[in-house]
Amino acid sequence: MSIVVAIDGPAGSGKSSVSRAAARALGFAYLDTGAAYRALAWSGLDRGIPLADPAAAAAAFEGFDYSIGTDPDDTTVRVGAVDVTEAIREPRVTEVVSLVARVPEVRARLVELFRGIIATTTRPGIIVEGRDITTVVAPDAAVRILLTADEQVRMGRRSAELSGVSAETTARQLASRDAQDSRVVDFMNAADGVTTVDSTDLDFDQTVAAVVALVRD
Ligand code: C5P
Repeated sequence: MSIVVAIDGPAGSGKSSVSRAAARALGFAYLDTGAAYRALAWSGLDRGIPLADPAAAAAAFEGFDYSIGTDPDDTTVRVGAVDVTEAIREPRVTEVVSLVARVPEVRARLVELFRGIIATTTRPGIIVEGRDITTVVAPDAAVRILLTADEQVRMGRRSAELSGVSAETTARQLASRDAQDSRVVDFMNAADGVTTVDSTDLDFDQTVAAVVALVRD
């Protein structure tokens, strides 16, 4: 049995880059669940599906042929034969992904898919990162972490990542996505038994070290 490490947190908390670096340091697999929601949103846009309609968004799962690399050095995301690794980060996808993620049928199908990936990992462990991993996808994970940072810090980090977008726009989009997403799952507060790692005053390496230390403990 592989060790499962569940990490949740809001947008801009650095959970993807931190989780991936921690997985690399530990020799673990890495699963970015947000990438799956994004791939489904991309696929819906590609097929002209009106994602604001929950029934249509749920139906988008039919014919959704998706794969994701769980090697921290190769996290290629494909929909069918198309490599969408870059495309799923585009603002047009970020803008609609919460519409897909709020649909219960979509969440149930993806949770099932994630559990399948976790169960078949061949590495000694897997770090799974998202919004509902500590509570829904893997509540029995050996290590459960909520990665947070002050809102101002998260916004600053995210706007540094996105060139060509004003800091105000980034802040507004991030706050609105968090508000929408947290209506669906609570990832702002640690559930029982979940350890909070607050990276407000930590640099990247210190945050990775804090996560690695919790796993090695
Ligand atoms: O983590 P990332 O920002 O890439 O996630 C994209 C979107 O996917 C989130 O805004 C949220 O709507 C959804 N998501 C989710 N549950 C997860 C991971 C992501 O609802 N476990």
